[in-house]
Amino acid sequence: MTRTDPARPVSAPPRPVPAPPRPVGRTPGRKVLISGASIAGPALAYWLSRHGYAVTVVEKASAPRHGGYPVDIRGTALEVVRRMGILPSLQDAHVDLRRLTFLDEDGGEVVSVGPHTVTGATGRDLEVRRGDLTRALHAAVRDDVEFLFDDSIDTLDASGHGLDVTFRGGGTRTFDLVFGADGVHSRTRELVFGPEERFHRHLGYCFAVFTMRNTLGLSHETVMWNSPGRAAALYAVGDDDEVHAFLNFAHPEPPYDALRNAQAQRALIDEVFADAGWEVPGMLAALRDADDLYFDAVSQIRMPRWSSGRVSLLGDAAYAPSFLTGQGTSLALVGAYMLAASLADRDHTTGFAAYERDTRGFVTANQDQVGEGEAKLFPTTARALERRNTMLRQLATLPAATGRPAHSALTLPAVVPAR
Ligand SMILES: Cc1cc2nc3c(=O)[nH]c(=O)nc-3n(C[C@H](O)[C@H](O)[C@H](O)COP(=O)(O)OP(=O)(O)OC[C@H]3O[C@@H](n4cnc5c(N)ncnc54)[C@H](O)[C@@H]3O)c2cc1C
Repeated sequence: MTRTDPARPVSAPPRPVPAPPRPVGRTPGRKVLISGASIAGPALAYWLSRHGYAVTVVEKASAPRHGGYPVDIRGTALEVVRRMGILPSLQDAHVDLRRLTFLDEDGGEVVSVGPHTVTGATGRDLEVRRGDLTRALHAAVRDDVEFLFDDSIDTLDASGHGLDVTFRGGGTRTFDLVFGADGVHSRTRELVFGPEERFHRHLGYCFAVFTMRNTLGLSHETVMWNSPGRAAALYAVGDDDEVHAFLNFAHPEPPYDALRNAQAQRALIDEVFADAGWEVPGMLAALRDADDLYFDAVSQIRMPRWSSGRVSLLGDAAYAPSFLTGQGTSLALVGAYMLAASLADRDHTTGFAAYERDTRGFVTANQDQVGEGEAKLFPTTARALERRNTMLRQLATLPAATGRPAHSALTLPAVVPAR
């Protein structure tokens, strides 16, 4: 999840993002639309615009959304951000997490370990505030790409030569290709491939993330409380006044009613954590006032194919691996690069086939890191929790693991020059 580098100043502000390489010879006929301006969307926009496409990005929020828990950039994804020229600013923004402390149900310490012990991250991997990454990606493309905020795709019609798109805001336009980078609950996927239930693989938990006051004075550390089937954590990225609060709980079926209803999400969490100890009552109180709640089922998206006609999906919309793998952001970055590289010198049919052929093995290797109910950090029975605690105590005495993890198992093709 992170690394400790005494040479690097702690919490240094991100460096300004260098100007991206200018696109060479834009091909005016190839107009593409990307739905979603989070991680996958701007990364794809960057590479497609370098390959000569005229890119429009539509985002339903009024600006890039910067909230959420810190995210990992690992293995092959590090090479993608390096090739985008934003690696130095992300290295400056690296979160210097130093300690991970596990507590039992009564709030007593089980064990305190270095973060590498649990996450398997290697020394080069980065962890950054999600907002630092979305800001860097947006800054890298905003001068070369058209952004339409506060809008989204309403209908897609492929019966003509191109794709006729109507927007919720009322506009109509025609594009050569459309890409869905609009997250786990992708509207583009629903329009083209069918309902989410077909592709949603529930992993047996729900989670909520929000920010609250750092009342414990935590610094560069995560403290996690567990009881069987429930976890609560506070994550202090630096010495800030705020911490990221995280609640996770076993929920065998996806709570479809709550997924799009923040009121129902709060009610569900209140019910599940009603008798919990440690700092949880304070967390529940803070949750009531939080304006940045991010709630979801812990799930994966698994699709037999990611493209249909002139539409293709990437990132969480196509292959969300779940936060249990720590790989959602890295897959989004690598997938964006591979999709753009696949299209660079080919028609879309051949390009989409190449994207599948060259990327699917990497995606599957990462998604297969977890299975239903297999979240080792979140045991659902008292026995499993005791086993986990024993394992953590043993891990604390061992050197960090080595080897080539799944997230490094792809060699990127060279950048194909823009036409
Ligand atoms: C605000 C926010 C906070 C997050 N916090 C966490 C977290 O704490 N933990 C975690 O594991 N993951 C979190 N995620 C998800 C995480 O960013 C992704 O798992 C991962 O980075 C892959 O990114 P993505 O670009 O594929 O999808 P996402 O990051 O989910 O981005 C999808 C984007 O599409 C936009 N969008 C959705 N529907 C439409 C539509 N119909 N039309 C136009 N735009 C649309 C969304 O507003 C969003 O900007 C968060 C995502 C967001 C948007």
